[in-house]
Amino acid sequence: TIGVVVLDPKGHMVAGTSSSGLFMKKDGRIGDSALPGSGFYVDSDSGGATATGLGEDLMKGILSYEIVRKMEAGLLPMEAAQQTLTDFERKLLKKAGKVGAMSLICMNKNGEWGVATNVDFTFVVATEKQKPTIYIAKQN
Ligand code: ASP
Repeated sequence: TIGVVVLDPKGHMVAGTSSSGLFMKKDGRIGDSALPGSGFYVDSDSGGATATGLGEDLMKGILSYEIVRKMEAGLLPMEAAQQTLTDFERKLLKKAGKVGAMSLICMNKNGEWGVATNVDFTFVVATEKQKPTIYIAKQN
C-alpha cells in the first residue's frame, strides 16, 4: 500500500491510498485501503491519516479516523498516531492474542507529521522547505 497525506498552500488537505491488497487474497476481498476512516481519512480543519498493513486487523478499527480526531482534540501528530496504535494493539491482543503488521502516517493542518508502526517501514516527507527525505520508522 502507498498512503499519502497532502497539505496545499491554501490549507486544503487530501489523503489517499493505492494498494494491490494482500498476496493470494480471495476474489472480491476489499481491504482496509479502500475504506474511508480505516485506510485513510482527512479533514482540512484538523488533518489527515493513512494506514497500511494487515487489512483484516486494521478493519477491526477505524484508525485513520481516530488519529484525525485526536489531532483535532489537540494531540500532536506523533502522539496521535502512537497512542492510536498502542491502544488498538492492546485491544487486539486482548481479544485475539495476536496482532498483524500495522503502520500509520498522519499530518495535521499545520504540516506537522507523525508515524507509528509495529514493524519497520519507510516513508517520505517533502515540504516547500525540505527536499523529499526518506525516513525509516522503527517499531514502537
Ligand atoms: N492493507 C492492505 C490490505 O490489507 C495491504 C497492504 O498494506 O499492503 O489490503
